[in-house]
Amino acid sequence: MSDPTTPAAWGIQLAKLWLASGQGFPVNVETLALEVTKQRFSEPVGIVMPHGIDGIDGMLSKRKKHKDWCISYDKKVVVPGRINFTIAHELGHYLLHRTLHETFQCGQAEMMDYDSLESKRLESQANTFSSYLLMPRNDFDAQIKGQEISFELLGRCAERYQTSLTATVLKWLEFTEEAAMLVVADHDEFICWSYCSQSAKLLRAYKPPGESVPPSVLEHLRANLSGSRTARRVEPGVWHPTEEAIESAIISDQFEQIIFLIRFPFASAPNHEEEPESDSLTELTEKAQGSGS
Ligand SMILES: [Zn+2]
Repeated sequence: MSDPTTPAAWGIQLAKLWLASGQGFPVNVETLALEVTKQRFSEPVGIVMPHGIDGIDGMLSKRKKHKDWCISYDKKVVVPGRINFTIAHELGHYLLHRTLHETFQCGQAEMMDYDSLESKRLESQANTFSSYLLMPRNDFDAQIKGQEISFELLGRCAERYQTSLTATVLKWLEFTEEAAMLVVADHDEFICWSYCSQSAKLLRAYKPPGESVPPSVLEHLRANLSGSRTARRVEPGVWHPTEEAIESAIISDQFEQIIFLIRFPFASAPNHEEEPESDSLTELTEKAQGSGS
């Protein structure tokens, strides 16, 4: 088998290899990393282990003495699925970037908050690899087929793949034809970041960082503080100037975040030809498409 050259192709190939060996989900990345790299490369991943370094979710480092590489992760991370995604992310750096640096230290910073363009590109590629390895598109499709999308449904997928809810929702947004977006706000009620599906981009539904969460949304949240996941229909002018939306929210006290899943199922499909795409393309689209290598 020849070595792929893009993050997505690597992820797809290794996911297939895992399933072909008779294993199911979730992909056990630790086992896969040790086995595959031992078979294929002279300086393989020799060990996957926890470390005690605060603020660093995952690390890939060359061990000159052992002539191999070490993947380590913060085992104190309590978000379900984050560790599996982190190990896969580090394996992505190993497969794609190990000729560039001898150490990679990776934090969460919402997967996208790195300084230079180059490091953003590397982080984005490692995340793309990870998402393709852990959440193969055809299996994901089969899990959600014919069902209304909700945090509950995507949460069940996150359990299946042992990925975080956020990573799972992002994966769905990458391939869905629905107009939908994920909006993450802090407890000061400012939007930290948001991510739109392709159709939501065409609706210009994007919410920029720093914008306030709509007041009526906050009022509703304050009246329902139990962290309720019940979706509700909200009128135009709240999440979009002219479109109604279905809003679900999760309040995460632990991380001081409010996570919104906003869907626009009543929006009529915009005419693709009339919309110039260039201004809506972001780095994340590059991530979604697994290109940019
Ligand atoms: Zn990284």
